[in-house]
Amino acid sequence: MKAKKILFAAATLTAGALMLSACGGGGSTGGSGGESDGGLIGVAMPTKSSERWIQDGDAVKSQLEDQGFTVDLQYAEDDIPTQVSQIENMITKGAKALIVASIDGTTLSEVLQSAADADIPVIAYDRLIRDSENVNYYASFDNFVVGQQQAWSVLNGLGLVELDGTPIDGAPAGPFNIELFAGSPDDNNATFFFNGAMDVLQPYIDDDTLVVKSGQTDFQQVATLRWDGETAQSRMEDILTANYSDGTQVNAILSPYDGISRGIISALEGAGYSTGAEWPIISGQDAELDSVKAINAGEQYATIFKDTRELAKVAVDMAAAILNGEEPEVNNTTDYDNGVKVVPSYLLESQIVVKDNIKETLVDSGYWTEDEIGG
Ligand code: BGC
Repeated sequence: MKAKKILFAAATLTAGALMLSACGGGGSTGGSGGESDGGLIGVAMPTKSSERWIQDGDAVKSQLEDQGFTVDLQYAEDDIPTQVSQIENMITKGAKALIVASIDGTTLSEVLQSAADADIPVIAYDRLIRDSENVNYYASFDNFVVGQQQAWSVLNGLGLVELDGTPIDGAPAGPFNIELFAGSPDDNNATFFFNGAMDVLQPYIDDDTLVVKSGQTDFQQVATLRWDGETAQSRMEDILTANYSDGTQVNAILSPYDGISRGIISALEGAGYSTGAEWPIISGQDAELDSVKAINAGEQYATIFKDTRELAKVAVDMAAAILNGEEPEVNNTTDYDNGVKVVPSYLLESQIVVKDNIKETLVDSGYWTEDEIGG
């Protein structure tokens, strides 16, 4: 911790000195406050179609600028070749480091070899980049725990456990009908979330407290390519038609991401469900504004809050440390094997958000204002 502080002081001083010299020489390129030439950092984000990545990109950019770097921030709209060429461009422009949230974690080996050949360090942001030795560090959340939290939130909504997973005395015996959704199979996080969730849910499935009527419990069956809400909606519609047309109700849905939850909600509405006693318990992830509103409205039961400002800080600190010849701080050197090596990681903690703690988790932390959430 102490070494880290000294390091930031050093980075700030260097940035300050660079700013001064830029002003003195009259050669500053101008622009927003804090801009100077600590060097260019390339930041590759997957898509603007999900709010969380916009917040990640904004937070990483402004924190890098605060530390005196210039930033090339690019979004690839979930198109893999676009992301590859954006990273190639960053290398060509002379980026000193790359911070990359991949679309498909397995498709960057070649471009990252070019980065390594140019001595450009790479930080995998939130999603592990697989099949490459040229990934220096990984900044993320404890993704297995995120999955456990999603499952605990579902069980909490059914009255079975507290939000931390502690069983509730006198809980209902069920059985409850549940359907399962997972994220994109090419995103390393998706399996971590699903495995974490199933670690919690499997015993309840085994003792028949939970019943997956569709029978779809394998990751490949429940995965949702590109985390796409419409794909999830149509899978939910198919499940409802095939398994619940006889009048039985689905009581809970494990959803790994707010955008998928919104697709599921549309499918339920289309099938005639309405909020109230019969409405199923639905999980989520990312505390996206529309979904926080949906939690307030009783359509979604929970989401997982991963503070993108904190994640940005970890990644920015890692980049600054590397460029100052220091070792970035990590807290996990065992769990994230990318197929070639175990990537040293810093994992942050996430929080479960339900209606009762929206203010405490999201408003008090300044993530969303009460106005934005709608009171
Ligand atoms: C992120 C999640 C996000 C999902 C879809 C995952 O890699 O960790 O926070 O919900 O991608 O964007």
